[in-house]
Amino acid sequence: KMAPIPATMKAVQIAKNGGPEVLEYNDIPVPKPSAGQILVKNHFAGVNYIDTYFRAGLYPAPFFPLTMGREASGEVVAVGDSVSRFAPGTRVAYMAGGESATYAEYTAVDAEKVVAIPEGLSSEHAAAIYLQGLTAWTFIREAGEVKAGQWTLVHAAAGGVGTLLVQMLKSVGAKIIATASTDEKLALAKKHGADYLVNSNDDIVSKLKEITGGHGIDAIFDGVGKATFDADLQMIALKGHLISFGNASGAVPPVNILQLGPKNVKLMRPIVNGYVSERADLERYTSELFDLVISKKLEVNIHNIYSLKDAAQAHIDLESRKTTGKLLIKIN
Ligand code: NDP
Repeated sequence: KMAPIPATMKAVQIAKNGGPEVLEYNDIPVPKPSAGQILVKNHFAGVNYIDTYFRAGLYPAPFFPLTMGREASGEVVAVGDSVSRFAPGTRVAYMAGGESATYAEYTAVDAEKVVAIPEGLSSEHAAAIYLQGLTAWTFIREAGEVKAGQWTLVHAAAGGVGTLLVQMLKSVGAKIIATASTDEKLALAKKHGADYLVNSNDDIVSKLKEITGGHGIDAIFDGVGKATFDADLQMIALKGHLISFGNASGAVPPVNILQLGPKNVKLMRPIVNGYVSERADLERYTSELFDLVISKKLEVNIHNIYSLKDAAQAHIDLESRKTTGKLLIKIN
């Protein structure tokens, strides 16, 4: 039997852009699921770098006050009209945003965007690998089209997406070069299967030339952005895939398209949502991802679990480059 749904809940919101101090711990109404939506009682919200972009203003907030958070796991507690996919009691994971934010006790979210968590996978692990795992897996499959034996480069390889990219590239049979800013982070990348380690403070362009014997990198996965983009263009192999997917060091400035010519570079700036907007793709990639975790082919790295009222500390830690793996917020 389910506990009654309260009228109000705790949520972390911003009323303006700024540093972690603008995160407010507020009481707001529990949302009502409209037609096609379900109401999820969240267990864990994932902290993602994108949350800091919306907080700081790099990505414009669609409205204020804006509740933070774009990923969670939890349990269905109510369904709106014309929802047949889920019944109350089902454990689910989802990515959302805007009106359906996740640094909150309850979220009303479109049922079409939600997947059930299979038995054998905890809510904690589901939230820890969902958004970043779908990102890593779809970018390897669809953006990088990585094949066994190819040279790959993962920047920030000890981060949330990075730890998953390294392990997944290993499972695909790629040769993996990992960068990170400290020896401890590089050691984690090595544990996950990275073949070569390069400290990002070193001259990575010449190191990679040496490592690949002049071939260059067939697929570069770069969530660092501004600081590494120019080096990426130097390190990419002929016909290589350059997947620039984040702004941890700032946004990449406008690119002169002529720079792509000398090596016939395939430059992409993908967003994970575009690879899972079709329901069939969402289900296929999610089940492949969950299987990797359940079968223990993918190790889940949780840096820390914060309480909802301490969300600001999670942002401080993530932006300070001291974290490895996933940051979670425990909610219910
Ligand atoms: P991470 O856990 O990877 O944290 C960011 C890491 O970036 C840091 O740990 C740090 O690692 C590195 N970094 C390099 N320069 C800086 C800097 N100046 N300030 C802060 N960090 C820096 O975060 P996530 O896994 O959440 O996200 C990784 C990237 O992937 C982000 O850019 C994010 O926006 C992007 N992303 C994009 C998606 C998409 O759909 N396009 C989806 C999901 C994530 P080190 O110290 O080793 O350099």
